[in-house]
Parts: sequence; structure tokens; C-alpha cells
Amino acid sequence: MLDPADWEAFRAQSHRMLDDALDFISSVRERNVWTAVPDDVRERLSTPMPQDESSLDAVYDEFARDVMPYVTGNIHPRFFGWVHGSGTPTGAIADFLAAIMNSNVGGRNHGAVYVERAVIAWFRDLFQFPQTASGVLVTGTSEANLIAVLVARTKAAGTSVRETGLGAMRERLVGYASRGTHGCVRKAFEIAGLGSSALRVLPTDERHRIDPAMLARAIAQDRSDGFAPFLIVGNAGTVDVGAIDPLDDLATLAQREGIWFHVDGAFGALAMLAPSVRPLLRGLERADSIAFDFHKWLHVPYDAGCVIVRDGEMHRATFASEGPYITRMPRGLASATPWFTDFTIDLSRGFRALKVWFTIKQFGAKRIGEAIERNVAQAHRLGASIAADSSFELMTPVQLNIVCFRCTPAGLDDDALDRFNDEVVIRVQESGEAVTSSTTIGGRRAIRVNITNHRTEDRDLDVLLAAIRRTAQAMQREGFGR
Ligand SMILES: *Cc1c(COP(=O)(O)O)cnc(C)c1O
Repeated sequence: MLDPADWEAFRAQSHRMLDDALDFISSVRERNVWTAVPDDVRERLSTPMPQDESSLDAVYDEFARDVMPYVTGNIHPRFFGWVHGSGTPTGAIADFLAAIMNSNVGGRNHGAVYVERAVIAWFRDLFQFPQTASGVLVTGTSEANLIAVLVARTKAAGTSVRETGLGAMRERLVGYASRGTHGCVRKAFEIAGLGSSALRVLPTDERHRIDPAMLARAIAQDRSDGFAPFLIVGNAGTVDVGAIDPLDDLATLAQREGIWFHVDGAFGALAMLAPSVRPLLRGLERADSIAFDFHKWLHVPYDAGCVIVRDGEMHRATFASEGPYITRMPRGLASATPWFTDFTIDLSRGFRALKVWFTIKQFGAKRIGEAIERNVAQAHRLGASIAADSSFELMTPVQLNIVCFRCTPAGLDDDALDRFNDEVVIRVQESGEAVTSSTTIGGRRAIRVNITNHRTEDRDLDVLLAAIRRTAQAMQREGFGR
């Protein structure tokens, strides 16, 4: 057996690891945001599979030396890259407890199932979906979007599509989304066998939102060309700039056209918890399905996302399957239908819901909503400082929690400015002072500051801006790009 031979020694060792971990997270502000993994560490991490046993102490020492210091950085108050949540110590402890239980939440009759059902019901109610709506926790919004695309496909093609495949359809299914839509939606079309060309990507307005009138025309054109429009994907917070599509108009259009309306609300949908931001999401409650993440603005440790589907029966009809080894019983451990495996890709599934449950139980929806509001206010304040500084150019108005801008040193053409700004981002990351990411806005490279961080204080954004200014000035002195 693989249990400790000496439980007391194991307990002492575990307590040391827990203490170290809590020291690590409580002192995170004092360290660099990010440190590159040195060559010798990378080498040590690529040694062959050990055949013989080692002590837990020795393995832990190796971890503490070679792994723990090289975090992504998103636990730090000055991490503003991509869209990463910060995590909480509570979520980490909950994840440990879930691992001790080691529940398989594919189905059956045990506590974890009821916790996951409770979490789903909380969000179903938050989004004002009916009690008949279904939901399931997944790895993240990429998987949640895929599930929604598959359910929408089943709705349009009928459940027989599971047997016959899309090739049996007379008309090709096509869907619609704005160009601001996350790449995982295109990937979902690829994986679903629809083909990425079946995703019609529409241009956006000056605030990076889809234009419902243009969308209506695209649908009409496709119908007259013999295609079968089946899905509109709206965004509640695009990944690049945090744009929110006109969700209410999209819901009306989808209803009129009789097609599925899905919302990618990876981080933005959580703003339903924030009273001052919530009005921006009007129409979200009319969606047929919503994909969102707990590991972004809810700050549970990776990974945890969710999909909620209004038509729970259609959701089940898309994934439910049978096998003699998973026969359901009226009583005993194999009861408590429906099982989560009937709503998703996986059979065996971890107890992701526990860290969500702990997080919401401990902090309450209100306090989480306040953290979201603070981030939105911080983004607007940062945007205002940048707009007021002639050495910067704000690339797009701040709409939610993301600020995109660039440095504009004199004498550089647009291509040189692109290289200049990418280099600023890299150098600031390498300095360890702060992390941003970069993206392309209107064809030009931008510095992208995303604030989904409950640890960020206003002064952290001052430090970030000072680091960017200092870096840009040093590069100008060097003659970078000339
Ligand atoms: C992060 C994100 C995704 C992908 O979600 P994952 O949890 O990383 O799989 C999809 N859409 C948007 C808008 C996102 O921000």
C-alpha cells in the first residue's frame, strides 16, 4: 500500500509544507511577479522516471527549490497579463480537502454531487435561468463553449446527428460571432466537426461590439445561399478589450430567427455579482446557454469553468450515454440520476465544485462583487491616467476591466512602434516588477492590462505605469527601433 508507514512523521512533514505554502502566499507581494526558469532547473526537471523510492522530504525539497519559485505570477498583486484569476488560500485548502475525498463526480450518490448541484443552482439563479436549466463544471470556458456549441448543434440537427454525424445533413450548419470572439470558439467549431469556416466572423463597431443589423443581413444571406444558421455567440467581455456585445438585441434576433443564442461570459458574466456593472449585461438572462469561468473573476484555483444551458433536456440529450458498467440503480451508490457525465465529455471528473462552494460560502456573493467593482474602477482610473499622458495613446475606450494602450515615442513609424511596445512588455515582465500581456488592436500592437486581481491596490497600478514609463525612456535613450 502507498499510505505513510509512519503517520506521525507524515503529519509533521505535511504541516511543514502547509506552513511554507502559507508563508509563500502571504508574502507574495515582496517577491518578483515572475522569474524565468533557469537552465539548470529546466535540466533537473527533465530527468528520466525514477525507479526507486525516495523520501517525501527529499521530493518536497526538490519541489521547493525547482518548482515553487517559478510561478506564472498571477497570484501577485501586480499581475495584469491575459485574463488570469489570483486564487485564494481558501480555494487552495478546499482543493486539498477535495483531493483527500478524491470523489469521482461523474455521477452516483455522494456528497460531492450535491455540492456541485448547489453551485450550479446558485449561478443558474444569478443568471435568472429557470429551474429546468442544467449545468456542469468543466475545465474552463474553452470546454464550456464547446459543450454549448454541441448542444446547439443537437438542437438544430436533431439527436439523430449523434448517430449519423453532420455529413448526413442536407444544409451546412453555420454560426456567427464577432471578430473580438475568443479563439476557443473557432476551435470548438473545428472539434465539433462543423469546420471553422462555418463560423462567420463579423466586424465590430468602434467599441469592438457586433452590429446586430449586420448580423441579421449575414443570416439572411446565408439562408438564401442554402446554409442553416444555428448559433449566435455573443460576448460578455471580449478577451482583448472587455467589450460587451448588445446581448439583448442578439437575444431578440436569435429568437426571431429561431436559432440558439450562446454567451461567452468567461470573466464578464461574473460581473452579475457587481451591482454597478450588472446593467451592462442586460440580455444575458435571455441566453440559451452561458459559458463562464470560476478561475478568473471568482479567483478559485485553476481549473474550474461552467456551462449553464436553459434547455436541460437538450443538454442531456447531447451527451447522455449508457454502458453496462454505468447502469443506474434506484437506490445505493449508483443512484441519484441524472449524472454529470450525461452533460459533458468526461466520465471521471474531479470535485471542482468544492473550491467554488468554499469561496462563495466564506466571502459571500457581495464581497466578491465588490472586488469585481474595484477592478473595474481601477481600469477606468488607469485609462484616465493614460489618456492624460501624451507619451501614451489609449487604443480603445475602457469598458470593463481591460486597458489597451501603447507608448508613442516620437520619430518611430507604426511598425517600429509595434516592436517598441512588444519590447516594453517583455522588459517589464523580465524586471519582475509587473506583468502585462500584449495584443493587436486595429492592426497595431498594444500593451494590454487586464485587472482580474483581488490583491491589486491602486498603488500597484502606479508602480506598473512608472515601470512602463521608465522602460520606454531607457529604450528611447538606447535608440531602440531607430
Ligand atoms: C479566458 C477566456 C476564454 C477561455 O477560457 P479558458 O478558461 O481559458 O478555457 C474564452 N473566452 C474568453 C472571453 C476568455 O476570456
